Amino acid sequence: MIPITSVQFGADTEELVLGVLRSGHIAQGPMVARFESEFAELLGVEHAVAVSNGTVSLLAALQAAGVGPGSEVITSPFTFVATINAAVHVGATVRFADIEPDTMCLDPSALEPVRNERTAALMPVHIFGQPADMPGLIATAGEDTLMIEDAAQAHGAEVAERAAGTYGIGSFSFYATKNLTTGEGGMVTTNDAAIADTVRLLSNQGMRARYQYEMPGYNLRLTDLQAAVGVSQLAGYDEVLRRRRANAAALTAGLADVEGCICPTVADGRTHVWHQYTIRATGDAPRSRDATVEALHAAGIGAGVYYPKLAWDYDCFSGHPRIVTDPTPIAAEVVGQVISLPVHAALTDAEIDQIITETRKVFGC
Ligand SMILES: *Cc1c(COP(=O)(O)O)cnc(C)c1O
Repeated sequence: MIPITSVQFGADTEELVLGVLRSGHIAQGPMVARFESEFAELLGVEHAVAVSNGTVSLLAALQAAGVGPGSEVITSPFTFVATINAAVHVGATVRFADIEPDTMCLDPSALEPVRNERTAALMPVHIFGQPADMPGLIATAGEDTLMIEDAAQAHGAEVAERAAGTYGIGSFSFYATKNLTTGEGGMVTTNDAAIADTVRLLSNQGMRARYQYEMPGYNLRLTDLQAAVGVSQLAGYDEVLRRRRANAAALTAGLADVEGCICPTVADGRTHVWHQYTIRATGDAPRSRDATVEALHAAGIGAGVYYPKLAWDYDCFSGHPRIVTDPTPIAAEVVGQVISLPVHAALTDAEIDQIITETRKVFGC
């Protein structure tokens, strides 16, 4: 089976990790500081605060921005559950606006029915590695609307020549399957020094200096061992992106004419980092989406379904007093169509050809 994701580490990673082990400084220290400054440089943002995963980075971003009980946030229903978990846990009410069918990101023109005077923040999700239309969202919602960007899948993607995660407060994940990984890890990015400072306090027990507590905090710290992996991943990221982009272009060239299969596209003014290459099987496909995925698996293609249902479409959320299940017809259709094909940097040309050949067969070409 050609896997949907693959992590590979070289001698450079081993050397950095070994250096941390030998230094005896394995908790948070100089390597985390280096990872933060190099990640900030990648994005062109002033502050990057490392945390222990992408879920708590959303949580810390929301809390640092003062989003809590009585606030409403508007997000995409087509996301990983962490986006709504974080908002629910800070006490906010979560509402949903529909997505653009092509990019599958929050649609600025869909905000109006759910926006009101309680709206405290938008939480655009840069799904699959393509940023949401940030200029459009800002123009529609107003310059002073707080943006908490879920950029867990979009390290280094750009919209209007600015990195995803730098328009408002950015939240990134370095989970094992993401474009950049530390095993588990996260980062909050911002140009606002006060927000960065609060996230730093929250992540370390609310502590400014030894035993000087300024707020009730958590322990959200990343470790130097993890950061060493992250620093080496950053060093190779240009090449990873070059390969993901070449793989995506090859898949589209090989699948563009397939009936019943919509290939992913990149909107004008945006760049894509291809965390996932996600096609949509329409009603013209010879099989249902689920049967298509089964046939792909039988043919040795590790296809995935991200995500099989809207994020709120589970009993624990659909009946939740702080989840408002606004209708989002486009997202509701898309969740029944999506299939992600392998696009990762470790794929060989032969594997790309095999993915194209087998996918064409499954679609009856
Ligand atoms: C992975 C992911 C998260 C959560 O990140 P973790 O590091 O797994 O906690 C949040 N939002 C989206 C869209 C993700 O893909």
